[in-house]
Amino acid sequence: MLEWLIIGAGIHGCTTAAHLAYADPSLTRDKKLLLIDSEAKPLSAWDRLTERVGMKYLRSPGVHHLHPDARDLFRFAKRNDYDLNHFSGTSRKPSVPLFRRHCAKVLDEMNLMPCFEQASAFHIDRCADGWRIETDQGIFFTRQVVLATGTKEHCQLPSWLPSNGDQRAFHLHQKQEFSSVAHPATVIGGGMSGVQTALELGRRYPSQVTLAIRHPLRVWEYDSAPEWMGGKYKQLCRRVSTFSERRNVISRARRTGSITKNLYRQVRREQNLGHLEVKQEAVQSVAPGTANWLIHGEKTTWEARAILCATGDQYHPSRSPLLARLIDSCRLPLTPCGYPALASHSLAWAEGLYVSGPLADFAIGPTARNISGARTAAACIQQEARHVFI
Ligand SMILES: Cc1cc2nc3c(=O)[nH]c(=O)nc-3n(C[C@H](O)[C@H](O)[C@H](O)COP(=O)(O)OP(=O)(O)OC[C@H]3O[C@@H](n4cnc5c(N)ncnc54)[C@H](O)[C@@H]3O)c2cc1C
Repeated sequence: MLEWLIIGAGIHGCTTAAHLAYADPSLTRDKKLLLIDSEAKPLSAWDRLTERVGMKYLRSPGVHHLHPDARDLFRFAKRNDYDLNHFSGTSRKPSVPLFRRHCAKVLDEMNLMPCFEQASAFHIDRCADGWRIETDQGIFFTRQVVLATGTKEHCQLPSWLPSNGDQRAFHLHQKQEFSSVAHPATVIGGGMSGVQTALELGRRYPSQVTLAIRHPLRVWEYDSAPEWMGGKYKQLCRRVSTFSERRNVISRARRTGSITKNLYRQVRREQNLGHLEVKQEAVQSVAPGTANWLIHGEKTTWEARAILCATGDQYHPSRSPLLARLIDSCRLPLTPCGYPALASHSLAWAEGLYVSGPLADFAIGPTARNISGARTAAACIQQEARHVFI
């Protein structure tokens, strides 16, 4: 029987795995920990998306990464002669190549690669002494399980987007071939992903790219106010007892659909040079033309050969068949809005069943879904599990 099975080898699953392996190296040495993902390698979705949007630097500071020691990325950069160009701003946001190399180093150092298996989990149930996980590669028994399944399968598709997997109109999170996007292209969405994609395509096809945004560009350095990365949510939870109030706090504190000042400047520069067109109007419908799509906005109509939606996600646990069945069969407690009802800073949804990422919203708060939240969740899971066994 395994000690730990982590479902999802994205940033959240890998961060938890790294924290557990760091605290107890025998877990990986004795193959008591298994990390599974339906993708072929750990961090596949992260690598694909950051490459797809042409991301140069992370939005988060250099102390946010997989390793339990916050200074580890800086030490790694120094040891391997990464110069100052690999950091941006005063919080030293790392470049994407540096962050990727550091992730690979952590997975290697913690001996996690031999503990990874490509497998898709489709059923989870209790069994004597723990949990039984059914996957397309067989059944696993584990004393403890971590759900780190992310949000990528829940992308928010505009109602007008063709549902037939059209290669010329898709959401960034869908797996369509991306290397040869046709142009003229329109990118929809004014958040980090949309803006970075428009800038990246604009470099490839100057004056052939339109960015369609519903609201004026919103500028914030981080995706939630920096104080939420500290203990603010924990303190707040002591005062705000109801889940619905906590949901309001989380929604207000998240700065979804915002971009950094640096990106804002780049958009304005490309716009002034005439390389990028920015239309501030909601897209209402799209019709196929002979070669191009006809895009009907609130004010104007324009053409594009490719449409890329960076319209975020529409996450809800009940939309995942795996989670819906688990909630039902194990009668797991839910908040009024259908998320795991967790105590503040406890990631245990049931005995031996832990969550990270969006499922941890009510324990971690506004930062639950980003790298800072992954670190907080990993540290909590490791601490909570230790107390159970002492
Ligand atoms: C382009 C982009 C840039 C970002 N930049 C930053 C940043 O700079 N800083 C920051 O803090 N945050 C950033 N974020 C936000 C967040 O940190 C990332 O979205 C992060 O990848 C979320 O990690 P995750 O592990 O929750 O999800 P994912 O990366 O989606 O990983 C979940 C994994 O679970 C697997 N899975 C799901 N269901 C199953 C199943 N049933 N069986 C097996 N496997 C399963 C999936 O295949 C997937 O690989 C960024 C997000 C995006 C999209």
